[in-house]
Amino acid sequence: MKEIVLVKNGELVLKGLNRNSFEDVLIKNMRRHLADIGQFTFTKSQSTIMVEPENEDTDLDDAVKALGKVFGIAALSRAAVCEKDMEDIIRTAKEYLADELLLAKTFKVEAKRSDKKFPLNSPQISRELGGQLLKAFHHLKVDVHNPDIVVTVEVRDRYAFVRGNNIKGAGGMPTGTSGRAAVLISGGIDSPVAAYMMAKRGIELISVHFASPPYTSELAEMKVMDLLKRVAAYSGTIVTYVVPFTEIQEAIRDHCPEDYFTLVMRRIMMRISGEIAKRQNCQALITGESVGQVASQTIYALGCTDSASDLPVFRPCIGMDKDEIIAISRKIDTFDISIQPYEDCCTVFTPKHPKTRPKLQDVIDTENLISELDRMCETAIQNAKRVFIK
Ligand code: ATP
Ligand code: MG
Repeated sequence: MKEIVLVKNGELVLKGLNRNSFEDVLIKNMRRHLADIGQFTFTKSQSTIMVEPENEDTDLDDAVKALGKVFGIAALSRAAVCEKDMEDIIRTAKEYLADELLLAKTFKVEAKRSDKKFPLNSPQISRELGGQLLKAFHHLKVDVHNPDIVVTVEVRDRYAFVRGNNIKGAGGMPTGTSGRAAVLISGGIDSPVAAYMMAKRGIELISVHFASPPYTSELAEMKVMDLLKRVAAYSGTIVTYVVPFTEIQEAIRDHCPEDYFTLVMRRIMMRISGEIAKRQNCQALITGESVGQVASQTIYALGCTDSASDLPVFRPCIGMDKDEIIAISRKIDTFDISIQPYEDCCTVFTPKHPKTRPKLQDVIDTENLISELDRMCETAIQNAKRVFIK
């Protein structure tokens, strides 16, 4: 039996005239996610995209799994292709959906007919198929309000399709339709979640990670790359800049009062990331900060870090509790990696009593105690290692 995958667009339908180009980006992204699985043909039709394998032995389970991570897809389902003939539609539904129908207690049939020449109209198709399914599966009852399974029949121009329940898609907007931003990525729980959330809104990601060898280890850096791979499974390739941060952190330690260490460090991270972001045509920065989570994330501290770059800073975790952030990190499979115990440069030279109500001018004055900061920032940018994460 020939099978295809039917994909329902998400918010794309809202985009009016842009809809076509949004769909094209979505198809390009689907193609990329399916590249290792097989060759597929994509056909747009109303708010559905038909994904048809070119070879019969293509594994559609793998295809559905991969498409489940493509942003911009609201729902998807496998469907059986059959002739535009009522007998074939009935035979296909009974056979193709047998397992699901045996498990269900209630069902309803929904029919859509885009080919108006088909001899039965939609209510007639539903009635006919519903009656036949009741005869074949005696335990089933019809429930039009809350059925266990909705059997959908679509009669289109060349074929008819039969399918069972939809699977929920990744939602959001196709990656690449909302511009580009640089995520400051640490090895923690929050920043991979922040990256995922903004990619879900259609933003293409690059990322910046600060490493301070020998205070931070190679393993810590590998952990970050593993986290980014998990995010890239959704967002597509993430070009990553690993910025050498040791010289700057030692300069902060040597020149600044201890209670300002973290704040000055965070401002310099923002400044360097902002600069890399602009050179890579990004329109915003992304961090995993959440109000009040630690001393450097009080409302006062966030105000100080915000002003270190003139790009807007997106903080999608800002109003979330840690357990809400953890729930997302589990969903996207980053949690287990995030809790591996490697040191981050944020835990190097941490003050015992960090300032929680800093004044911006005081922080800037402290920062200015570091001579040659401009030179050090530019050197760090020039020496950043570029890695392609797929
Ligand atoms: P996370 O769980 O994301 O590490 P956190 O709660 O540990 O966050 P901080 O360590 O204060 O918080 O970091 C706040 C934010 O700063 C992070 O979410 C991340 O965006 C950025 N950040 C922290 N350390 C690094 C780093 N080494 N490289 C790049 N960005 C970093
Ligand atoms: Mg951290």
